[in-house]
Amino acid sequence: MWAVKRMASTSASSAALTFELVAKCSTTRARASVMTLPHGPVNLPMFMPVATQASLKGLTPEQLEGTGCRLCLNNTYHLGLKPGQEVLDAVGGAHKLQGWNHNILTDSGGFQMVSLLKLATVTEEGVRFLSPHDGTPMLLTPEHSISLQNSIGSDIIMQLDDVLVTTSPDKVRMREAMERSVRWLDRCIAAHKNPDSQNLFCIIQGGLDLDMRRECCKEMVARDTPGIAIGGLSGGEAKDDFCRVVGACNQLLPELKPRYVMGIGYPEDLVVSVALGADMFDCVWPTRTARFGNAITKDGMLNLKREKYAADFGPIEDGCGCPCCRPIDEEGSMGITRAFVHHNAAKETVAAHLLTMHNVWYQLNLMREAREAIIADRFPAFVREFFGRLYPDGQGYPSWAVDALQGVGIDLNS
Ligand SMILES: [Zn+2]
Repeated sequence: MWAVKRMASTSASSAALTFELVAKCSTTRARASVMTLPHGPVNLPMFMPVATQASLKGLTPEQLEGTGCRLCLNNTYHLGLKPGQEVLDAVGGAHKLQGWNHNILTDSGGFQMVSLLKLATVTEEGVRFLSPHDGTPMLLTPEHSISLQNSIGSDIIMQLDDVLVTTSPDKVRMREAMERSVRWLDRCIAAHKNPDSQNLFCIIQGGLDLDMRRECCKEMVARDTPGIAIGGLSGGEAKDDFCRVVGACNQLLPELKPRYVMGIGYPEDLVVSVALGADMFDCVWPTRTARFGNAITKDGMLNLKREKYAADFGPIEDGCGCPCCRPIDEEGSMGITRAFVHHNAAKETVAAHLLTMHNVWYQLNLMREAREAIIADRFPAFVREFFGRLYPDGQGYPSWAVDALQGVGIDLNS
């Protein structure tokens, strides 16, 4: 036994999270892994649909389960207002409230507050705002955010951070926000009552300044949280800047921890971010756009409200395995048609339900296919096929994607 060579470790555990690296792409920085949380394992890379008020608009928990989703996102800000902490404590948390036996991630509530409430102000103590219900002054502190998330009982909880739009030109304020986010992480760690059953993730800030991002990565990584998020992005910055930040942060983060890029959901953004080494994503866009009659497909977006779909009796997307698109019997009889969705779009909620199901499936399946490609070590081919379908007939690829992928060894134009 003395001669056994030590293999590089491929898994790491904390009290409520095990991260197992399954495969690494031999060209890009993409990875496939399994993250095991208190409510079961989830395969990474993955997309997390957003169930704002403990429900995903238009889907029952069973239907969400049917899309293959095993980790969805709830908003602390909304749950804290309604049903409120007392009800959450009484029912025993958000899993019980929504009849969802799989994993939940909650945000801290801070981003919602700053983005939804114009009168929110940030001080060292926390985020001050006026109650949207009765206008009384309120304060969300790191301690309060963690206490709410402890009552929600989510499998992953997020630190309260000081979020600025990345395009803010105020470097002094950006540095203050980054350093404050580190101090707030310390307060969150101290306030967290359930480290054995809930995983607190830190959030890297620092805007578009790579030095500030690197400094923040160093501080945050030293605090050894079970997972790490890259925050503040998707706030109107150029896509090139977005890719630079995601790429730079991922290179500094520990290999055996999940990396979550917050707030992104366009299929191209997901695929490029996976190539840059990210594992987890969330966004309201796929479900929101469904309510406007839009289907996400491998060939781009279809607006089913358009007249040309009135007599289109094909499925929403050919070959899609979602419950709306797949044939309803062994003879291959079609179920839901584009014509049916068109007929109901923007009139009856059923169209929004069907497109929500399809879009969530699309996003989850995109990440499943990326994962299979990484495991089979054919991820670069997968990326080229994906972009080839989205931009057919030699239409120009977006230059930000070409450049970002070139940086990790994929030439889209070859
Ligand atoms: Zn479908």
